[in-house]
Amino acid sequence: MGIKIFYILAILYAILSGVGILNRELGAPYIYLFLFIVTAYYMAYISLKKIQFFYTIVAGMALNLMVQLTGGLLSPLFLFYAIAFLLIGFKDEIRNYWIVALTIISVELSSGLLVRKMEVFPIVLLVVAVMIIGYVIDLMQGRESRTSRSLLRYETRDQFFAPAAYESDKIKTSIGEIDRHKGIERPLLYFVKFIHNILNAHTTAIFALNEDKIVLVQGFSHSELFVPETVVDTQSGLYRRAIAERKSILIKEYLQRPEELGYYRGPVEINSVMIAPILLIDKVVGVLAIDRAVGSFQEKDKGIFDEAATTAGLLLAMLRLYEKARYDVQHLSSIAELAEKLHKRLDLSEILSDTVQAFKHFMPCDDVSIAKIDEFDNRGEVIVSTRIKERTKFPLDDGLVGFVARHKNSIIKDDLNKGNLVVFRKDVKTPNVSFVGVPIQQDDELLGVIWLEDHRRKRFNEDDVRILNILSYQLSLAWQRATLYDKVKELSIRDGLTDLYNHRHFQEILEAQIASVDELVLVLLDIDHFKKINDTYGHQAGDKVLKFLGRLISQIGVAARYGGEEFAIIMPKCSLKKAMDRAVRMKDQLLKSEVSVDQTKISFTVSVGIAHYPNDAKTRVELIEKADRALYVAKEQGRDRIIIAQTMKRQ
Ligand code: GH3
Ligand code: MG
Ligand code: MG
Repeated sequence: MGIKIFYILAILYAILSGVGILNRELGAPYIYLFLFIVTAYYMAYISLKKIQFFYTIVAGMALNLMVQLTGGLLSPLFLFYAIAFLLIGFKDEIRNYWIVALTIISVELSSGLLVRKMEVFPIVLLVVAVMIIGYVIDLMQGRESRTSRSLLRYETRDQFFAPAAYESDKIKTSIGEIDRHKGIERPLLYFVKFIHNILNAHTTAIFALNEDKIVLVQGFSHSELFVPETVVDTQSGLYRRAIAERKSILIKEYLQRPEELGYYRGPVEINSVMIAPILLIDKVVGVLAIDRAVGSFQEKDKGIFDEAATTAGLLLAMLRLYEKARYDVQHLSSIAELAEKLHKRLDLSEILSDTVQAFKHFMPCDDVSIAKIDEFDNRGEVIVSTRIKERTKFPLDDGLVGFVARHKNSIIKDDLNKGNLVVFRKDVKTPNVSFVGVPIQQDDELLGVIWLEDHRRKRFNEDDVRILNILSYQLSLAWQRATLYDKVKELSIRDGLTDLYNHRHFQEILEAQIASVDELVLVLLDIDHFKKINDTYGHQAGDKVLKFLGRLISQIGVAARYGGEEFAIIMPKCSLKKAMDRAVRMKDQLLKSEVSVDQTKISFTVSVGIAHYPNDAKTRVELIEKADRALYVAKEQGRDRIIIAQTMKRQ
């Protein structure tokens, strides 16, 4: 309707404009200002909001008027056309773009003809510009709507058939290809094919209902014009009636255009049509449609068709149950497999990356992420993810992941675009729309959150949460064990008093360093007359001295407690001179320091032996021997000094 009025208006305007009534004779400067305001308002409106058809009409006219007033096709404002076309094309329906473009071209042409001042070049230029811009916009919008349509189809199909994802399968629609369908679809298809043959149909189609649309999931047709990608709006028409009334419709003489059935691309000889809702328990989940090219469906056929629709509902219910059971079994065995794998591992990062890989495999979705949560700090940190950079930190107040952590409860979101939901951090956008997140916890202790995302809407349901919870529990056990293992491992290599590496680990490090670096220096160090410190101030004071020295020497290299009051320092990739400097500085600092115990202050000295690899020794044992020997010499020569193995000379 709107389009028709627009055409009439446009033609009227073309005549008026062409005759020149509006052309220059309205020469008041105010009119320019007025037109400028109208156009500016329109442009702003287009870019801010979704424009309506009405605005397109006004804009088309205002623009043309402006061009006419300022000199027609030769006007510099002519350029505005291009801008307006771009905006209309991007913001409006493509159909409106073409209407405006064609109107403006026809207005230009007719006005040119009527005033007998034909300018061919600008007209050709205008047409070419319109075509190019239109083609590009068409391409872009077409691609966008194609992807959103195919997403809708996959989503609907998943809901119609079963919980499993069928994304990898292309939808096929001819009878010959029936054997290529797998699982739940095939029995249903055989059934529909059977009805198709019994009722001698031209086309039989099953649609799944998705909100206010029905989406073709399967169909058989003898027509070349059958469209497998059909999506029909059910706001009006036959389908709406069948769904609303939950009753089938029989049309013996079908007089409407066959295109109105939705699944034909052009005119097809159709004589009779039947449409029935497919009910699952008491809910309409789809529609069955059938048509005949020759002859009419009769009441008897309607009886068969009604029964077929009921049976299709029952069959679907049964097949869904079957598919769900199959899905559960498959998932439970995958969970068992993963659990077994997790329990063999002790390394947390391996455990987590195994989990993420397994999830992607048996819960097909686009992205899986795991974050560890620090409840005290109110922050999380992504530790493994298929989408987000590892170690990305985020506050728990920002998004859904934080919500899962704070409430220690799972969340499902069907569409993140609704309400502009944030996944984990405000400034990090996700390309996905579905979300499910569950906490990873042991008793009351929260370790982290695992969440899945997918580009399809409504991808996750309660069943997925159930499975995720089982998995998250398995993961929490493995996670806790790995953390415990790390702690034990750390304890086993450290000395309890000084927190330096212990003797055994010192040997391991030294061995590893000798194997990997070109040179290193080993420093052995022994406190002078330590027994006296113990005897004079007590054992506890002695301990304090040991701790103090431990802290001091850990600043100059990889320090270890070699024995009672003996320490070792490894200085990898270090020359003898540098090592000597460090040791001297350390001794100087020791000279200035005192360890206070109660009211007394203890000062003490150390003897130091230094050996260089590979100058003094070629092996670990030999190197220790050389350093030890140097230390012995230092003691011999009167203590409180540094001796280098190479020279055995007092420094
Ligand atoms: P020297 O200058 O010859 O090294 O004399 P020294 O007294 O330091 O030598 P010695 O090796 O005979 O004595 C080491 C003492 O260190 C013996 C032991 O009681 C004490 N000791 C060993 N381990 C600890 C410890 O963990 N805490 C305390 N307080 N003393 C310890
Ligand atoms: Mg000593
Ligand atoms: Mg000693």
